[in-house]
Amino acid sequence: MTSPIRGAVIASPEYPFKPVEAKFKLDQNESSEDFPSELKATVLQRLAQVSWNRYPDLHSDAVAQAIAAYEAWPAAGVVVTTGSNVLIALLTQLAGIGQRVITVKPNFALYALGANLLDAQLTEVPLRPDLSIDRDALISAIQAPGGGTGVIYLPVPQPPSGSLASMDDIIAIVEAAHGWLVVIDEAYFQFSGRDHKELARAYPHVVLLRTFSKAWGLAGLRVGYALAPDGLARQLRKLVPPFATSVLQTVAVQVALANPGYVAARVAAVVAERERLYQALQKHPTWQVYPSHANFLLIRTPDAEQAFKQLLEHGVLVRRQDSYHGLEGCIRISLGTRAENDAFLAAAGLLPAG
Ligand SMILES: *Cc1c(COP(=O)(O)O)cnc(C)c1O
Repeated sequence: MTSPIRGAVIASPEYPFKPVEAKFKLDQNESSEDFPSELKATVLQRLAQVSWNRYPDLHSDAVAQAIAAYEAWPAAGVVVTTGSNVLIALLTQLAGIGQRVITVKPNFALYALGANLLDAQLTEVPLRPDLSIDRDALISAIQAPGGGTGVIYLPVPQPPSGSLASMDDIIAIVEAAHGWLVVIDEAYFQFSGRDHKELARAYPHVVLLRTFSKAWGLAGLRVGYALAPDGLARQLRKLVPPFATSVLQTVAVQVALANPGYVAARVAAVVAERERLYQALQKHPTWQVYPSHANFLLIRTPDAEQAFKQLLEHGVLVRRQDSYHGLEGCIRISLGTRAENDAFLAAAGLLPAG
């Protein structure tokens, strides 16, 4: 019997994630600290007062306006979805189907997965041996003769290591990509001290993706957004399902954006912990840690399976990365609280067990 299901879907792997229980959960680059409890209480109070029987805004208009005010960005250029991973799929629908998608590898898995699912022509440009982006190779891929156009996905900072491309490199790539859509995924920008709003204002083919899932401590809420020029946002919004943002998401984002003061202190704490662990890991006899500008550290070990098990025996859950090309032996640890990070260091033999 023939199947009605498209071959590209059948051929695609499932999203590579397997949940594991552990005392210290350092595997998903979440914030270890929950949304502040007094803000949660405010959200719950307001939720009791809004109507649940009515549909929310068609295009999350109230949320978009709150984001626009916070970001100093025109509301017409803000596109809100249930997590920025939805926007990755929508942007490939917008300008990748029947055209091209360019990204780097290894990378956040969703860019390539989405491109394959939607049958876009995918080019994955290898990172350099130090896991930084290869600007010249990217520009060659963009300008390949007869290469057409499409979407370029560049997370900055760049998974898997958290490296930060120079602004010169980013500008050179954006300049080479007139006629393309350049999507800069800023999921971790708060931890790098650099953002690309000025760049996006200067180049109307640049779209920024931001999320409440990382620095804001709201991964469970599922809200992300794009900052784009008005015209591009209008086209992108056609692809967002109507009424997508629930009353919970709406109220919680409004409360978070009205009380953003907790974020900066947390980011500073994560950055300080990142530098402390980076220094501590220098003393490991066989592990090598990569410099990071995000809220995680990539570590190359002689044997990722063994390292993963050793850490998990001490209750510390990290993410294996060794199935990705070029990441043999690699594990990734999300930076947690000081106590969680100490548990990791102890499990790695770098602190006397507490
Ligand atoms: C975590 C992450 C996101 C955020 O995804 P959400 O769907 O908003 O939770 C986006 N891009 C990258 C590279 C990430 O690591």
